[in-house]
Amino acid sequence: MRADHIYSVATRLPEALAPLRDIAMDLGTGGDERARDLFRRVDPDSRHADDFLKLLARVPQERLDELAVDPTFVAAATTLRDDLARLRDAPRWYQLEHGDPGNNGLGLVAYFSLEFGVAEGLPVYSGGLGILAGDHLKAAADLGVPIVGIGLFYHYGYLQQSLDRSGWQRELTRQLNPHALALTLLDVDVVVDLAGIPTHLRVWRAEIGRVQLYLLDADVDGNGPAERAVSDRLYGGDAEHRIRQEIVLGVGGVRLLDHLGLVASVFHMNEGHAAFSALERIRKLVVTTGMTFDEAIEATRPSQLFTTHTPVPAGIDRFPRELIEKYFTSWADECKVDVDRLMELGHEPGTAAPSEEGAVLNLAAMGLRLAGGANGVSQLHGEVSREMFAPLWPEVPTEEVPIGAVTNGVHGRTWVSREIGDLLDRVVGTDWPEARPDAWARVDEITDEELWALRRVNRERLVTYARRRAKEGLLARGMSEAEAAWADDVLDPSVFTIVFARRFAPYKRATMLLHDRERLRSLLFSKKRPVQVVFAGKAHPADDPGKHLLREVVELASSVEWRNRLVFLDDYDIGVARMLVRGADLWLNTPVRRLEACGTSGMKAALNGVLNCSILDGWWDELFDGDVGWAVPSAEWVENPEERNAIEARGLLTLLEHQIVPTFYERDADGVPVEWTRRMRACLSTLGPAVSASRMVRDYVDDWYLPAAHRSRRLAQDDYAAARELVQWRARIAAAWHDVHVVGITHEEQSHVGTPQRVWAEVALGALDPDEVQVQLWHGRVEAGDQIHDPQLTVMQLESASGPANVARFVASLSAAEQGSFGFTVRVVPSHPQLRDDVLAPFVAHGTPQVSCID
Ligand SMILES: *Cc1c(COP(=O)(O)O)cnc(C)c1O
Repeated sequence: MRADHIYSVATRLPEALAPLRDIAMDLGTGGDERARDLFRRVDPDSRHADDFLKLLARVPQERLDELAVDPTFVAAATTLRDDLARLRDAPRWYQLEHGDPGNNGLGLVAYFSLEFGVAEGLPVYSGGLGILAGDHLKAAADLGVPIVGIGLFYHYGYLQQSLDRSGWQRELTRQLNPHALALTLLDVDVVVDLAGIPTHLRVWRAEIGRVQLYLLDADVDGNGPAERAVSDRLYGGDAEHRIRQEIVLGVGGVRLLDHLGLVASVFHMNEGHAAFSALERIRKLVVTTGMTFDEAIEATRPSQLFTTHTPVPAGIDRFPRELIEKYFTSWADECKVDVDRLMELGHEPGTAAPSEEGAVLNLAAMGLRLAGGANGVSQLHGEVSREMFAPLWPEVPTEEVPIGAVTNGVHGRTWVSREIGDLLDRVVGTDWPEARPDAWARVDEITDEELWALRRVNRERLVTYARRRAKEGLLARGMSEAEAAWADDVLDPSVFTIVFARRFAPYKRATMLLHDRERLRSLLFSKKRPVQVVFAGKAHPADDPGKHLLREVVELASSVEWRNRLVFLDDYDIGVARMLVRGADLWLNTPVRRLEACGTSGMKAALNGVLNCSILDGWWDELFDGDVGWAVPSAEWVENPEERNAIEARGLLTLLEHQIVPTFYERDADGVPVEWTRRMRACLSTLGPAVSASRMVRDYVDDWYLPAAHRSRRLAQDDYAAARELVQWRARIAAAWHDVHVVGITHEEQSHVGTPQRVWAEVALGALDPDEVQVQLWHGRVEAGDQIHDPQLTVMQLESASGPANVARFVASLSAAEQGSFGFTVRVVPSHPQLRDDVLAPFVAHGTPQVSCID
């Protein structure tokens, strides 16, 4: 029978235990071992050791009353609460490095995301994107970075996975009661317009240490049922449902900041979902300052950063023109432009023209055009994104498309096991999540025995957990206690354990290991060197191919023949992930190369000293180095996908049979696999500092947030004088640019290493002055196809201005440090002191000039 209404009856927390509630309400304390110990004292057997609030809610009232009169417990709770509060407010990296936030620093960063995975007790996330956003906020809190998160509250969260008897995924929904979560209702009323209907939003605040996360919620008395339903579930519903959620996020989020009096100087759009925030900022400027639409774009752009996570075009949000007309006509009126202008901002070259029927607004394209900076989430993904979005910058060579990369990271204390945490505290220092490579190098002092002991403890803990979860899963699938009894002793705590846990999207190829059942059987059931595999993951509700893959795994895991060595755990979430990344020996990842933007679960495993075995994709492509794990060879030259899968599957099995499994079982006299533990050390010491979310957040602050804050401040001075001037300047450049070209290049002959060689370029400037352009000489070693490898830039200096027809002469000097074949090319770009090169990129003049040589 299904309940129509869910309510919870909470225990009454005695006044003396208020500190427990304070600790539980701060989602930043979840990784603190002292806090975990304290709650363990409340209820040592709780299933909710990772969700303090739930733990408190489930403890019998008598137990709470008993603790309330236990003076040592009350004192311990109070001391810890005060300690954590002191720690929370103490100066951190950001304060020490960048000083007072008011003093020309960041001011405040507003981080917009449609999902946040902060804790299992706040299930407003679906997977990687949300977990990343959660880890971003947690690491920012640890580093003292002034940031707020803005997202949505969903009354049904994301789907809960359940499997039917045949192994087919069914989606369950669970209604959340926000009052029972670590959320505080704020006294604000934000209003957004949804196609002419004023919609009220209430706001929940979550605390993550010193960082606040605000969740907007349209389920408010006074809104109609259709508006209230906007906050029903994450990634449910059709395009219209999605656009309404994204308006609430973007438009509502910007308005919320105003309500709270928070002045952000950087707006970070986590994926296209957040891009409507830029439209609201533009509207606000037009309405309040009388600026033109174009001026408002210039004024807001430098403070906006766009992060893309989607390496496949099909994964991007696109809205048909009808929807945009329905929801943004009044916005366009207020901005004094027509909807065509908006459609142009999100136009994707090669699709229907903005004003035509069938036109779509591509949110990534719009986000990129409205942002002063953009990045992918690993080096390789940066490259993939530059290729994917190159059509937006038709004149720019692909490698110079202005999309950079900040490799994702993971929040250390959230993901590491207690044993690893203690070890790192001792060896690297208690600030290990923020420590630099030199401190991590001390991991080399850890002994083989110590590493092996903690490996065993964590594997055993996973096996115990997997047995319990597997059994619960079977019971939930409708099996009887007797039918499910076998789950009590599946897996073996001493056997080499591979984990594959991730979304069951076809490109992740969950069944690669199952490709050759005979070989897999020999591997798993080997007498001498057995192997076991744990699978977990959800398929997207609309992804039938993904559900088929899942069923294939579940079928095998339920068969009498395989089930002792192959287990599927359902309802993969933060809690399941935490156990898996700690307990595995080997973390397996088999995406089709270039389709995994980063893949952060392997990073969580690496911080636990768990070795990765993965296709060279995402983060692994840049951080794999032979010692820290293994690379599955990828057969990219094979066009037929099935053939390619088969080749890669064989490569994976061979790697396991010949290298990985033997290394694991190669023991010394004391039973320790010394080559394995050596690799664990290499994994911790080299990957530790690189995969940490602190490294990621520092990269964002230093390379993106601070420059963005400075640029936007400059542009805002004197009532946005510079922004207004930029509009004129752009118009002037656009009109003059077709006359700009390189007329000719002359150079001295160069034949010896180290001899300088001068190069001159004659550049026709049309109506522009020489200081309005920059003439660039790109040079380097020449490879096949006359391509310059790793081109170096030298800016050419003006030698003589304005010959006839406004042709100016520029010069630069080159010299090659070694022998070989070198080449150069000359390019002209517009130059303006307020703009970074990336914003200029739409104008690049190459010309195909005559090159002549003078001896
Ligand atoms: C870390 C994590 C992810 C993302 O990991 P990938 O490596 O990108 O698959 C997804 N879901 C959960 C629950 C996670 O903890």
